Amino acid sequence: MRVADAIRRLRALEQKTRPEPPELEAALERRWAQLPEAIRGPSQMLGRRSTGCEGTHGVFPRCDLACTPCYHSRDSNRVRTDGDHTAREIGSQMKNAREIRGPGVHAQLIGGEVTLLGPEAHAGALRQMIEHDRKPMSMTHGDFDYEYLETLALDPETGRPRFSHLSFAGHFDTTMHGRRGIKRARSEAELNPYRRRFCELFARLEREHGVTSYLAHNMTVTPRNVEQIPALIRDCRGMGFRMFSFQPAAHVGNPSRWKDRFRVQTDDEIWERIERGVGARLHYRAMQWGDPRCNRTAHGGFSGDRYWTLFDQDDPRDIRMRDLFMAAAGGMDFASSKPLLFTRLLRALAREPRALFAAVPFAFRLAGRMGGPVRIIHRRPTAVTVVMHNFMDASVVKPAWDGLERGEISDEPEIRAAQERLQGCAYGMSHPEDDRMVPACVQHAVLDPAENLALARLLPLHESGSDAEAGDRPVATEGSGTRDPAGKVTRA
Ligand code: SF4
Repeated sequence: MRVADAIRRLRALEQKTRPEPPELEAALERRWAQLPEAIRGPSQMLGRRSTGCEGTHGVFPRCDLACTPCYHSRDSNRVRTDGDHTAREIGSQMKNAREIRGPGVHAQLIGGEVTLLGPEAHAGALRQMIEHDRKPMSMTHGDFDYEYLETLALDPETGRPRFSHLSFAGHFDTTMHGRRGIKRARSEAELNPYRRRFCELFARLEREHGVTSYLAHNMTVTPRNVEQIPALIRDCRGMGFRMFSFQPAAHVGNPSRWKDRFRVQTDDEIWERIERGVGARLHYRAMQWGDPRCNRTAHGGFSGDRYWTLFDQDDPRDIRMRDLFMAAAGGMDFASSKPLLFTRLLRALAREPRALFAAVPFAFRLAGRMGGPVRIIHRRPTAVTVVMHNFMDASVVKPAWDGLERGEISDEPEIRAAQERLQGCAYGMSHPEDDRMVPACVQHAVLDPAENLALARLLPLHESGSDAEAGDRPVATEGSGTRDPAGKVTRA
């Protein structure tokens, strides 16, 4: 009996210390097998490095700012934010996501506005996501106070941190209306004090309680603000954001919030503005996440104001380093405990020892791109990821998805392209009732309207008593107002 037990333990240890434990390995293989042939190349990370990103849906659809465009359906603001509902939905969505996409996946806690949840309900949602082996990131407009963040981060009984680390994405741009202090921003620059304030909340949290953070900056790109991208990046790269994510506006969600013809600039034209802001070429072809028509991701960072790229997509030595890294470490989760990470790294190098030898000259090249040893010492390099995520218009997503559901591939080039993109989607949302993940484009363009209508009946706004019990906050769709230190908002 003892021998059998020891063998079982050894086997479990052996599996756990693999660069990709069996559950993750199987999920990666499934994801890779689902990808269209055209995007399965050596630069493709989906199905090799990760099974993709995830987002929640229908868990707190309401928001208290008004964006133009807004990707949520008209009824989303008729749904009461309810902590019990959020907890139930998160639990079942994350369980299903874990079964399909495996462990260690980045998942966005997204609605709606997450801070309309009381801090306890918000903390409970994050805790559940972590329990299902997700890496949660709270998506917010950033219009909340330090007291809210501190209450979220600390255990109410002990006063000590209940999270050692928090990830937040702050959405700041001139398409949003109703922010406290600046109901309508006339330029992106006018929002810089609010972006800075957002970063400072987290810096203070770390100073006072030791809770570290990862902050992303999200911006919807329209013809009105595209020319302001270069200045925005220059102004904000030193604030503390570790990711700048740009979403070209799409005609999806509530049509009454579509203020412009959005599709004026091409992807290349928007990317060129981003590169101008960064001050360097962005090497998004070195690592591809899903379909290039959906996503461009450039891994690199800044040393002071100098941008450096992780992999130079035109340097064969860097591409070989990337390939050796993938052969050795593949989907390995670097956010593991130190002993586990060390053991996994040893096993990864045993699998592909050439990675170690290639890493030495690569490190010298990388240090050169960072400006050399002197600059590295004086201007500590900070990793910053630049992303462009290009949601599709509802008018193409609906027929594309309907066709896929019937098992039909369209002859129309535009619909067929949308089908290929949906099949190679890197951003999925969990549907436990159907035991599947669906692309976020499909969620917003096809499924949200009926889902939010049903939620408006289930959680009507007028039951304000249960709002209070859930720690919910009052909401208005547009307008300025004030919030008290406990996070309560009063809108004019
Ligand atoms: S299909 Fe839509 S949600 Fe999925 S990666 Fe492409 S743009 Fe994003």
